[in-house]
Amino acid sequence: MNLYEKFPITLQNSLSGKKEKFEPLNPGKVGMYVCGPTVYQEVHLGNLRTFLTFDLLFRYLLYLGYKVRYVRNITDVGHLVADLDEGEDKIAKEARLNQLEPMEVAQKYTNLFHRVMDLFNLLPPSIEPLASGHIIEQIEMIEKIINNGFAYESGGSVYFDVEKYNKDHDYGILSGRKIEDLISQTRELEGQEEKRNPLDFALWKKADPSHIMRWPSPWSDGFPGWHLECSVMGTKYLGKEFDIHGGGMDLKFPHHECEIAQCTGAEGKPAVKYWIHGNMLTVEGQKMSKSLGNGFTPLELISGDHPMLNRGYTTMTIRFFMLQAHYSSTLDFSNEALEAAEKGYKRLMRTMDALAELSSSKNVDPSSEGFVEAKLDAIRKHLSDNFNSPLALAEVFELSNRINDWSVKGKSQAPIEKESLESLKSELNKIVKGVFGLEKENDSNSEILDKVMALLIDIRNRSKLQKDFSTADKIRDELGSVGIKLKDMPGGETTYILD
Ligand code: AMP
Ligand code: ZN
Repeated sequence: MNLYEKFPITLQNSLSGKKEKFEPLNPGKVGMYVCGPTVYQEVHLGNLRTFLTFDLLFRYLLYLGYKVRYVRNITDVGHLVADLDEGEDKIAKEARLNQLEPMEVAQKYTNLFHRVMDLFNLLPPSIEPLASGHIIEQIEMIEKIINNGFAYESGGSVYFDVEKYNKDHDYGILSGRKIEDLISQTRELEGQEEKRNPLDFALWKKADPSHIMRWPSPWSDGFPGWHLECSVMGTKYLGKEFDIHGGGMDLKFPHHECEIAQCTGAEGKPAVKYWIHGNMLTVEGQKMSKSLGNGFTPLELISGDHPMLNRGYTTMTIRFFMLQAHYSSTLDFSNEALEAAEKGYKRLMRTMDALAELSSSKNVDPSSEGFVEAKLDAIRKHLSDNFNSPLALAEVFELSNRINDWSVKGKSQAPIEKESLESLKSELNKIVKGVFGLEKENDSNSEILDKVMALLIDIRNRSKLQKDFSTADKIRDELGSVGIKLKDMPGGETTYILD
């Protein structure tokens, strides 16, 4: 029996607003599309959070035994400043300001993005398509939508006819917005005269003479609208219908709403079965974003070189920090929360070391064996319940406490059968490393701490031998006051635990 049958997934589908049983269109296989970065600037920590959310999903689906095709695109064209249908292309603007070729900008930030993904141990997607590499397919989809009567050409540009579409379909099905409200909220913006209705969105834009990124099309020399590429690349690589489409919550409207309209306009039915949205990383309650100036990059977080940071943190600490929150809740950044996450992460890594050292004891205790099995199942159940990483991590820590007990009390002996111990070692590794992506990092600080602690323990032992109990007690008490507990083991050895 596959793990995915034993631990069936339920997930929050943004389309229905409900938790649903996850049933992939093709049994045993999952197709997942996630909106990737627009490569005109460095990703910030908020972007990273969204990509990490889908890394957790990808890793967990693989862990359960699904064959997954994970597509995450690179937006290197068509995303206009302020997410509107008018204005400059974000990449072209950056190129103009820095006197670079637009593709030089796209390449620079794609490279940097890959570096950040690697540093934070995110698995690469199965396919990473570029918008600029799929212009022909985008033109084909526009033609289909026009032929179906849901788009019209105007002044060399092509617009999606939202009002017409909404007669037989529901524009707003995902975001819950009502077309009447949207109409009343829209202002007449400059350059919108070509549209029949201000709500209509661009599928193709005619390029004005200053626009560098342009391609020939039946309508004009121009470029595709931002929403189109994801509809095109998702269905090209995952099929006309596919399982999961993800992105950050802020993309629900208009980006994903428009995607649904485009696919339905082209094929008569929507493409995506489950929509999943990751929630925002906030700073003092406000969405982290470059334009608000409350954002910093993952690399700044590592170096600590930013006014909002007390110091630098490691990539694994940041992974742990993000996994401690459920993907559907907002997560507020603070130095304190990162410091707590650092402690948690280190504690977990020490447990993994202790676990590797454990051997099976002759005195087997069936209740311990039961405990291990129950905890492993609880971890999987939480992850299968809408990818609840914080609850799964809490169960990992209950197992971790037990492992530490065994490691100290029994001199690295676990009162469970050899087979169960081997399965605990391999399963916990698969969960911690494989699903959470938490690896041990070369931490020179912890090596130094080990050496300093060995020295202090040695001094304390010598003091005891010389009956200088006040020094021995002082060492123990002062260490205790900074959160380091000394444990005297039955054989006379002493180890330390960080609380
Ligand atoms: P962009 O490059 O702006 O298209 O964003 C890439 C991804 O990051 C999208 O899925 C966004 O929804 C997501 N994102 C942007 N800001 C945040 C934030 N503060 N917290 C979490 N995700 C974000
Ligand atoms: Zn997208």
